[in-house]
Formats: sequence, structure tokens, C-alpha cells
Amino acid sequence: MPETREKQKESLGEEKEPNAQCIICGKRYHICNDCKNIKSAFPWRTVADTVTCYKIFMALKQYLDGDISKEEAKDILSNINIGSLDSYTDWVQFQIKRIMG
Ligand SMILES: [Zn+2]
Repeated sequence: MPETREKQKESLGEEKEPNAQCIICGKRYHICNDCKNIKSAFPWRTVADTVTCYKIFMALKQYLDGDISKEEAKDILSNINIGSLDSYTDWVQFQIKRIMG
């Protein structure tokens, strides 16, 4: 039962240690066990540290999956307060520039 073993390991660890890395800005953050388990309640917590990062993630994902057009992705990104591109990973900067270009 790998699931049980993992739970035991986590309960022994320090609660506030960063245990996840944002795939958008690369920042390390803490994700609580509840957030991990209740994926439907806080889905963004499992991939990104902030809602902004998650919105960027969703826009890029939908665009790269072909679910939305470049124009639609541009629209979404324009409505997100992205701030400085330097705060994001090289891959994200590349994708944003490609879409906004
Ligand atoms: Zn982030």
C-alpha cells in the first residue's frame, strides 16, 4: 500500500517545508495534505503557488493543447496581471512572448 506509506512519511515531516514547485514561476511553495487530497476544491494548488500562476498555466495549456486559438490565449493573458516576465521560467517567458508577440 504505497498510499499509506506516503501518508506516514508526510505526517513525520515538517508541515511548512516547501514540498512543491510552481511550474510557472519556479518558486517553491508549501502544499498542505488537504490541498493535495482535495484536488477538486483547490486544483490550482497542485501545480502553481498563486492563482495568477495557475491562470497563466491554464491559458498556455489550453493553447498548446489546441483547445483555444492564439488570439483567445492572447485575450486571456491580457486580462491577467502578469507583471514582470522575469519572474517566470524561461519556458513560460518564451510561450507568453510567442502568444503576445
Ligand atoms: Zn508561481
